Amino acid sequence: MTRERGILRWPVLRQLRGEDPRSDAARSARTDALRPRVEQADKVARSVCPYCAVGCGQLVYAKEGRVTQIEGDPDSPISRGRLCPKGSASKQLVNHPDRQTTVLYRRPHGTEWERLDLDTAMDMIADRVVRTRRETWQQEEDGKVVRRTLGIASLGGATLDNEENYLMKKLYTALGAIQVENQARI
Ligand code: SF4
Repeated sequence: MTRERGILRWPVLRQLRGEDPRSDAARSARTDALRPRVEQADKVARSVCPYCAVGCGQLVYAKEGRVTQIEGDPDSPISRGRLCPKGSASKQLVNHPDRQTTVLYRRPHGTEWERLDLDTAMDMIADRVVRTRRETWQQEEDGKVVRRTLGIASLGGATLDNEENYLMKKLYTALGAIQVENQARI
């Protein structure tokens, strides 16, 4: 749209000339120049907010393989396009320069974090699980069969969604661990 310059831009003049006083006449050149944040995206994917178990629907916009914006999905029956402030800021979870992308490990009595590759970390966890079960397995207690270990416990965070919690509960139950908790319940 062609817009006048100088005094002709004054909203009161434009309103007297009959332009819509609620939008066009009161709109600044800066507002005219603004473009939607998602306009440049070359791809949009549907996702679910990872922060809590509400599971609000998200539209994830990307350009050249990089996430550029995350907004509420109006088609989600859970949230109908809305996100809370935390969900609205979830782009930072992907793009923030402080995001951790490698495993960090601090040894017993250590004072510094060490970076580990994922295979090494997974092997260390598996070794500990096997050893702990072997050392702490209880077959019976007070004459009753319990078949459990009290040497393994799980404390989940609220960024885990329902499906992840379901799988974790199955895993720990299969391992014989009974102390399975979540931060949201505590
Ligand atoms: S953190 Fe907010 S946006 Fe994300 S699922 Fe929970 S309520 Fe929805």
